[in-house]
Amino acid sequence: MCAVAAAGVRGAKELRLAGQNMVPVSKEDDPEQRYQSSGDCAYRPPTGRQRIDQRIVCCGLLREHATVMSTPMHQTVDMPGWNVGWGVARSCNMGCRFCYSRIAHDASSSPKGANLAPYLQFVRDNALELATINWGTTENTTAGEWYELVSAIQGIAPHVVQAVTTNGYLARACRADVGREEVFVRCVREVDVSLDFCSPERHNLFRGHPEAFAMALETLEFCRRHSVPRSLVMLACGETLFPENLDGLFRIAAHYDAHVRLSILRPVRGCQLAPLDYGQLRAGLRWITERHDAVSLSDPLFAALAGCPTSDPAGLRSARILPNGDVTPCTYLIEPPWVAANIYRERVQLNEIGSRWAFRALREPVQPEPCRECTLWSACGGGAKDRRILAGGSLATRDPYCPRLHDDGLHWFSGRTAHMKESSAPLVHAAYLSTLIFAHGAGNN
Ligand code: SF4
Ligand code: SF4
Repeated sequence: MCAVAAAGVRGAKELRLAGQNMVPVSKEDDPEQRYQSSGDCAYRPPTGRQRIDQRIVCCGLLREHATVMSTPMHQTVDMPGWNVGWGVARSCNMGCRFCYSRIAHDASSSPKGANLAPYLQFVRDNALELATINWGTTENTTAGEWYELVSAIQGIAPHVVQAVTTNGYLARACRADVGREEVFVRCVREVDVSLDFCSPERHNLFRGHPEAFAMALETLEFCRRHSVPRSLVMLACGETLFPENLDGLFRIAAHYDAHVRLSILRPVRGCQLAPLDYGQLRAGLRWITERHDAVSLSDPLFAALAGCPTSDPAGLRSARILPNGDVTPCTYLIEPPWVAANIYRERVQLNEIGSRWAFRALREPVQPEPCRECTLWSACGGGAKDRRILAGGSLATRDPYCPRLHDDGLHWFSGRTAHMKESSAPLVHAAYLSTLIFAHGAGNN
């Protein structure tokens, strides 16, 4: 019996103990039958330069959720608040070969004796502009001061939606200290749990920790128990993106009523994994969209190919703060010249640094020459900005996953539009980085 089927019968505790096998391969269905026609798509892209604010009731908190679309999708848009990805812990309890923030973990790059003061100063200085904070970049849950910080921010700026990305350590950290659990329940509105494999052995090996899989499931269960919206985030790379693994991960997501977020591997400095192959990515995304509704597509290339165009959040009121205090406009561009400021060295006003070169450079549309004749340009805008820079060195190059670069057609999804499903979760990740989030259930196709 596969891990997730076992869970359905015997419960989560036994799942952790018994789940040793891979989920069986499911039969390939006819992809043509699995897509909605564009006429059935729940999403209607807006026309012209405009802003859409969706009011979402989440965890008793009514807030503005910034879903921003414009036409052309790659041009500057007016967003209502800043979305910040933030890491404060200077170490992690795991040792992933693909860690894109390893250089930011280097303790030697962090000031000694740093306390909460610069963090709280930043929040006070930007309280009116801040919409969301996602605690990621490193494993913040391992740092005792992180819980104090989350609690203090809730007091200073209760309107800010705080979320956390964790490798699964969150539940154990809270179990060891009821004060931490209280902070979590009071302050955290969404949790993203890293889980790359449905096989415990493979996930543990991949993350370099013998209990990585067990901790991930514990945290999913912990969030379910506290009714905190949750997603499972898998690194999409050559090792993980294959049908058996996807099937198993979506089953786990269904068991914990979690979304599934795909984080496509970026070849940042220090990453020891090869970039994901174009054909494998296309096959993986087809597999998912044939079976599951999309909840949010904030990756401009794949959103355009799926018929639901979006803006790339990079440079658009999205910022990253690294454990060493550096502020950058993008999750994956974390070294000079993309460092716009440092919260340990200066008082940072988001609206002011938004006009600095690193942010402006990502905001201003640059049309790669091969995109000039492309019918998808107004929706795609050349693809994900960070991928263009990481792969080609500048925005003058198009996305390395551009189908035309691979002599492929633009109809990855058979010319049909992905079905979008509404979610009551805050979807904090969609607001600050280009990513793909799916519902666990079968699509309405
Ligand atoms: S768990 Fe996250 S922060 Fe820690 S090493 Fe892995 S990728 Fe990096
Ligand atoms: S050529 Fe490729 S990257 Fe450029 S707009 Fe078309 S699909 Fe996007």
